[in-house]
Amino acid sequence: MRNIGIMAHIDAGKTTTTERILFYTGKSHRIGEVDDGEAIMDWMEQEQERGITIQSAATTTYWKDHQINIIDTPGHVDFTAEVERSLRVLDGAIAIFDAVHGVEPQTETVWRQAQRYNVPCIGYVNKMDRAGADFFNVLDDVSNKLKTSIVALQIPIGKESSFEGVIDLIEMREIRWINNGEEMAFSPVAPEREKIAKEWHDKLIDALSGVSDIITEKYLTGEKIEAAVIKSELRKAVLKRALLPMFVGASRRNLGVQPVIDAVVDYLPAPDESAPAVGHNLKKEEDISIPCDPKEQPLGLVFKIQNDREAGSLCYVRMYSGTLKSGTSLYNIGKKKRERANRILRMHSNKSEPLDSLSAGDIGVIIGMKLAQTGDTIGSEGWPVVLEKMQFPEPVISVSIEPKTISDQDKLKDILAILSKEDPTFTIRENEETGQLIISGMGELHLDVLVTRILKEFKLGAKAGNPQVTYRESISKVNEHTENFSKIMAGKENAAGITLRLEPAQRGSGNKYVLAAKTQSGRSEIPQEILEAVERGINGAFSSGIVMGYPCIDITAKVTNIQYSEQTGTEFAFEACASMAFDEAARNASPILLEPIMAVDLSSPHDFVGEVMSLVTQRGGQILSMNSKYDIDEIKAQAPMEKMFGFMTSLRSVSQGRASFSLEFSHFEKKSER
Ligand code: GDP
Repeated sequence: MRNIGIMAHIDAGKTTTTERILFYTGKSHRIGEVDDGEAIMDWMEQEQERGITIQSAATTTYWKDHQINIIDTPGHVDFTAEVERSLRVLDGAIAIFDAVHGVEPQTETVWRQAQRYNVPCIGYVNKMDRAGADFFNVLDDVSNKLKTSIVALQIPIGKESSFEGVIDLIEMREIRWINNGEEMAFSPVAPEREKIAKEWHDKLIDALSGVSDIITEKYLTGEKIEAAVIKSELRKAVLKRALLPMFVGASRRNLGVQPVIDAVVDYLPAPDESAPAVGHNLKKEEDISIPCDPKEQPLGLVFKIQNDREAGSLCYVRMYSGTLKSGTSLYNIGKKKRERANRILRMHSNKSEPLDSLSAGDIGVIIGMKLAQTGDTIGSEGWPVVLEKMQFPEPVISVSIEPKTISDQDKLKDILAILSKEDPTFTIRENEETGQLIISGMGELHLDVLVTRILKEFKLGAKAGNPQVTYRESISKVNEHTENFSKIMAGKENAAGITLRLEPAQRGSGNKYVLAAKTQSGRSEIPQEILEAVERGINGAFSSGIVMGYPCIDITAKVTNIQYSEQTGTEFAFEACASMAFDEAARNASPILLEPIMAVDLSSPHDFVGEVMSLVTQRGGQILSMNSKYDIDEIKAQAPMEKMFGFMTSLRSVSQGRASFSLEFSHFEKKSER
């Protein structure tokens, strides 16, 4: 089994190549009895209408007795979280380069991410038939820009419109494609190409002897090096990421694809050959390594959720350990909730196939889970391990959204609920006064995409406001206040008395409610409902702010005294009294406004680093560190969110699109401290 992804710069030919792979591999294997699953087919049709050819987040196919799961990697590298999540669930990747353009900015970014996750790769230079195509230039470009040791396993025969096939440098033969690309025809290397083929074969042996003692020894003793030995030594080197083997072709002209599929089997790792996943045991508070063993306890990661009108949530899961059976219950570890796996499906390019179970290393779709969100770990109750530590980043940007037609308000709410299952990193709230829906997220682009999906994908006419920074409010000194409340309602008196002491807490510690009052007032015992009403009133006040209406943070609210009488004390009176006590106490505790400060991680080629740094400082940012790595500089900085609007556009323009950045919430700071 192989779990692979295909990474490429937009337009390099990812879609074309993936289609060809699915076509050739589909021909080589009959999937057998498959249940078309009407709902799934229906969903596929919708996708086809939208012109998306590769429908699922993971598609399974077969080649030479191997199961290959192709995981879709998002084309847009700005969605770091999503790209990284897909890199986590795959074990190997094909990197596609354009034969004319070579390494492009996005390829660089994704390459660095693949490096971080130690994903073994093979390289494929596509579009060899285009005017200006030059395989050897691309090889230089890849080794210079990606700073990786490459090894060509093929060289092209002809180029541009006369590109006709490749020389296989391991078997030393020529390969051409016949029958519309469906079959390969092999022939000996033609005499006029013997010299160049020998030269590149020697380079291949040379590169391998740099990483393999076996090859070095055979080379030194002049022994013939068998193709099988080259392949097995090459496999070891690719698994260690010591070498990047390069292939060449023109997918659109059906030239060159099958050897790349062979290479997936020959050089990329099976799930149990990859480094074991790391999980966090919640009970023991320690990181553990997860064995890829179908007999262990089940553990899997929900890495993508696609919503289907008929079937509900399609949860794409990678199992890391154990076996999950269809029709049984499972446990959502982070949410501490039982769910059912009603059905398990394997997605093929145009069909879905029901499975009895899904085992360690494999990828499939679970139908029936209602609560699961992207990033959730599923398993069993007895083994509380999470695969992705759930961090809920503080939403720092909000935008109001309202439907064009008032009657669509409920529909909009439903859509937002669906979207939040797929993407747990944004929040929705309703402005109590205006009824307006407000969505908050981690950045401009993040909200932009959400709004676009509402309009385009769900086809709901809606209007979004301008993005705003979500500030917070807090206090800067201790203050105590006693509030007495009394109101006659329906001829009956409702009365309450509360003394509240507010204290500023350490930055980042959150809000705290403390009941420090005696629960006896005069001769009466204060009932539990009244105490709960007080707490409700304070919590409500925390979220509705002090002066500006932003949520409060880092305040400790201590109720030091409660005046209660059995005759007049009601829940209503105490909740209102608590809220008023808070407002009054907070207003006189030197309230302050806090703004989100973002951690800005930039990476830029050396040539642009000056411009990139001054862009950050112009926006009130502070450079914290700089680190040179290969040909790029990595800069860590902090900057206030309110100055970071439109940063991506400016960064692209000063760096010709070559610098990239990520923006993450760091902490809150008193506004204008910078
Ligand atoms: P993606 O954005 O990486 O998925 O790229 P696509 O597969 O959509 O291809 C982008 C464009 O390049 C399309 O117009 C393809 O027809 C074209 N293309 C893909 N492969 C080749 C090829 O081998 N040769 C040439 N000349 N064009 C190709």
